[in-house]
Amino acid sequence: MYYLGVDLGSVSTDLALVDKNHNLVEKIYLKTRGNPIKAIQEGFKILKDKYDEREITAAGTTGSGRMIASAIMGADAVKNEITAHARAALEFDKEVRTIIEIGGQDSKIIIINKGIVTDFAMNTVCAAGTGSFLDRQAERLEIPIEEFGDYALRAGSTVRIAGRCAVFAESDMIHKQQLGYAKEEIIRGLCDALVRNYLNNVGKGKTILPKVLFQGGVAANKGMKAAFEKELGFEIFVPENYSMMGAIGAAIIAGDQVKKTGKTKFRGFKLAENNIFSRSFDCDGCPNRCEVVKIYENDNILGYFGDRCSRWTGKTNEILGLRSG
Ligand code: SF4
Repeated sequence: MYYLGVDLGSVSTDLALVDKNHNLVEKIYLKTRGNPIKAIQEGFKILKDKYDEREITAAGTTGSGRMIASAIMGADAVKNEITAHARAALEFDKEVRTIIEIGGQDSKIIIINKGIVTDFAMNTVCAAGTGSFLDRQAERLEIPIEEFGDYALRAGSTVRIAGRCAVFAESDMIHKQQLGYAKEEIIRGLCDALVRNYLNNVGKGKTILPKVLFQGGVAANKGMKAAFEKELGFEIFVPENYSMMGAIGAAIIAGDQVKKTGKTKFRGFKLAENNIFSRSFDCDGCPNRCEVVKIYENDNILGYFGDRCSRWTGKTNEILGLRSG
């Protein structure tokens, strides 16, 4: 008996299976590559080869694509990233007070008091410090991203890099390279700059209390962890499954939900083989003119999302009295 969690983001699609004791038994990481439906189908093909769909007794979704994921796979819980990350963090350590989460495209801070989320902030605008930005810098410096943190830790000294925004940071790094600084010093300077940027923007006005968990793909970067510790003045912790916390949280929340409802809405693995695609239209129900997305599986409509008023969400053509198409 397993609970499935899917974290569908713009950069990556993560799938996690946890058992009834919330231990992680399977994790799948895929690049979304601008095609979220295909990414989920790929993930389901992998699961289908290893598990019987009847073993999945609950399914949950999170991430920016959680509505689309829910429409195509059938989800018992659809939660935003804050809720999913907090749930997984609290499962890992009940003492957590602050979650620093830096993913491929955005960063967040979540403040927790006595097991309850009391405050949070997200930065989806500035690319500096996100996984995609660090990947790009690693590529430019011709260093495997896995070794990026080691370079920072090896640096004998640091150099100040302007980390206020991605464009400034990159041009300042190039400038410092031209001045003859070592890659190690520049990378350490970059980590310091990105941490300053995070604390001054995402963490602005927040009291960061220990215990702090560092989650998301960027938590793999030891240089970033060290820079946070230097700036905050205390140790921060990286959970073993730091890059899967959203999917794990979604799975656990789904399990909790099914305990209440007694049955799952999970549709099984058949979507791995079926032709699933989306179409959008402008709703003319009111001046908002929402762009509503319609998801098809072969000729059947699985669901709608994108409406601001729930006129379409959760409806099928049968309910709406419309013909397919
Ligand atoms: S979906 Fe709702 S809010 Fe959006 S245009 Fe239609 S009626 Fe208006």
